[in-house]
Amino acid sequence: MRFEAIQQAYNRTAINISLPSEKVSDYFASNVFTIETMRKYLSTTTFDYILDLIEEGKKIDREVADQVALAMKTWAIEKGATSYCHWFQPLTGTTAEKHDAFFSPIEAHRGMEAFSGKELVQQGPDGANFPSGGLRATFEARGYTAWDPSSPAFIMTVGSGKTLCIPTIFISYTGESLDYKAPLLKSLDFLEQTALEVCKLFNKSVKKVSTHLGWEQEYYLVDAALYNARPDLVATGRTLLGRRSARDKQRSNHYFGAIAERVYAYMLDFESEAYKLGIPISTRHNEAAPSQFECAASFTLANVAVDQNQLLMDIMARVARRHHLKVLFHEKPYTDLNGSGKHLNWSLHTDTGLNLFSPAKTPKTNIQFLTFFINVIKAVNDYPDLLRASIAAAGNEDRLGVHEAPPAIMSIFIGSTLQNILNDFEKRVKIGGLDELAKEVLRMDMHKQIPDLLVDNTDQNRTAPFAYTGNKFELRVVGASANCARPTTMLNTLLGNQLKIFLKDVNELVKNQKEKKDGAILRVLRRYVSQSKRILFEGDTYSKEWMEEAAKRGLSNVAAPPHAFDFIKTKEATSILVENEIYTQRELEARYEVWQGIYKNKLYVESRTISEMVQNQVIPTAVKYQNVLLQNVKMGMDIGLDKKHFEESIRVIEQISKHIAALAEVQQTLVKSYQEAEEKEDVAESAKAYCDLVKPHFDTMRKQSSKLELLIADEYWVLPKYRELLFMR
Ligand code: ADP
Ligand code: MG
Repeated sequence: MRFEAIQQAYNRTAINISLPSEKVSDYFASNVFTIETMRKYLSTTTFDYILDLIEEGKKIDREVADQVALAMKTWAIEKGATSYCHWFQPLTGTTAEKHDAFFSPIEAHRGMEAFSGKELVQQGPDGANFPSGGLRATFEARGYTAWDPSSPAFIMTVGSGKTLCIPTIFISYTGESLDYKAPLLKSLDFLEQTALEVCKLFNKSVKKVSTHLGWEQEYYLVDAALYNARPDLVATGRTLLGRRSARDKQRSNHYFGAIAERVYAYMLDFESEAYKLGIPISTRHNEAAPSQFECAASFTLANVAVDQNQLLMDIMARVARRHHLKVLFHEKPYTDLNGSGKHLNWSLHTDTGLNLFSPAKTPKTNIQFLTFFINVIKAVNDYPDLLRASIAAAGNEDRLGVHEAPPAIMSIFIGSTLQNILNDFEKRVKIGGLDELAKEVLRMDMHKQIPDLLVDNTDQNRTAPFAYTGNKFELRVVGASANCARPTTMLNTLLGNQLKIFLKDVNELVKNQKEKKDGAILRVLRRYVSQSKRILFEGDTYSKEWMEEAAKRGLSNVAAPPHAFDFIKTKEATSILVENEIYTQRELEARYEVWQGIYKNKLYVESRTISEMVQNQVIPTAVKYQNVLLQNVKMGMDIGLDKKHFEESIRVIEQISKHIAALAEVQQTLVKSYQEAEEKEDVAESAKAYCDLVKPHFDTMRKQSSKLELLIADEYWVLPKYRELLFMR
């Protein structure tokens, strides 16, 4: 299979792509039921009503829902759609859809295309197979999907089939959320409310604050035939075995040239699909490792950006098929090479046109900037473990802390200029110091002081898990396959909660000490600066020194996801996530169960896969080759040749025996240990057993297998090698 796959991969050429038009603007969002499209298909009254609904989250009445449904149906049918679906994001981390035909029979041989408001607003899909963490008892196994008007409907094309997709949230019969979207929407609301109140300290005319998100998505590509010849890639999305290629990433430039054409065609293809769906892909480039790439979309409203990222991952996987490629979103498909992450660029904007994370152009608004800036730092400083928990997942475990990926210790990089400003803040402890500082801040032209360099990201520290990058914060610890909603919900909630505390602290100071508002704000901010120093780190987060330093600062370094999940079972988690009504206690507990369950299942599949590969492929191959050598020695000696002529063969035979024995031993230990882990009734205990007791054997197995890969003649080896997976044209 390996050589057949190599042959196939070798013979491939780039497929021809015909783009809808040379100009993206000609077809951008052509498959989206945008506000402009809606305007065309709705009466002015209904249209205005819907706009309010989108802006303010009002409840929709039946009649309006019917009109919107009619408009959507008309538009979708004109575009060639024959069915519709509620599109949602269950806790599996992927997207789900249940399709229904527009067509409905009226009598025996007649029918019509129907789609009512009721069908638009709510559906009861048969979602019994989605993880619910016990939120859904089996007797009421149905989950319900409910329309989210704040994210636009779109038409998904698969082959010649076209489906109207309606973004929805996914809830249980009792109204508990079973997805990533519902908590995200709640957190966006919560943050907007508190941020709005804080803005009003500075400018009474601000009416709206919205959260924006811009993601960058890393991925690997591999030829489909080679992928299919690797049971580990097929079953787990990553290579569990494989010897590192001699060509490391520094020497791989040459090989980029060879793959570029096929990859380029693929990129053009999925980008044009993305553009039709209104996803504003803005950059594409090669990543550090061979066969690794990145794309980014321009930032937009967080809710929409989350949907776009999920949708893009679907599109990328689907489009890859026609190019005979496989796209890998796994966080660590190849050992010893860079992992794949997702960077979340996050900012808050007002309806008055201000980016609240952007150093202000007028001195007056600098205090507002500093307020938001320092509150973000304080929020993460106080609850780094919750942020950690929000990015914990099996794949990310292998990525964090190695090969240019930030570690599991949460810290913030803000750059030297802002660090100096904060240091200055802290030093003004003397009476009068604060007034002086207030004057200085008011005089400061911070916009000019924060060097453009920072915005241009030359001054960025690439190793920081969370970094301020000039006009936004960037979270880099998110895994490539993650649903952006999970960490975004956490960031929103942490900041919303912190802003609530800030308002209380300022009001108390104003009341008790009769301090003026500006003075009180600065006093509170200064306190936050001294309380949050431990989270700021400008150095190399990969270094051993930082591990030690972070431990001294009381920052935790929990690399194992099943243990990191424990953070959401703490009192802090309840006080932040439940008291602010982002999750109910039950919803939070359900997530804990689901995440542990997903982790455990992944490890189960990995354990079985690696074990079977060793047993069915690696060891038999080694034995086969060993036999060849034995034959060789035996036949030579049979005809009377001296044993000394076969020293090399004998050495290899011995080596092979040694590694087979070691490999067989660890394989058996692995089987025993994963059976034990599997037997544990409690899902969290089971996940922890997998993590602590089963997974460590993977490394030993890889090491032993790699030794054999080196010893055995190339033509016998059945698994595509790293050099083939990574450098094939
Ligand atoms: P880099 O790789 O240096 O981080 P990119 O250009 O690849 O830079 O990515 C920058 C990302 O940040 C893009 O998704 C962009 O849309 C997003 N972005 C830029 N400004 C903002 C902002 N104010 N809020 C949120 N995201 C932003
Ligand atoms: Mg980035």
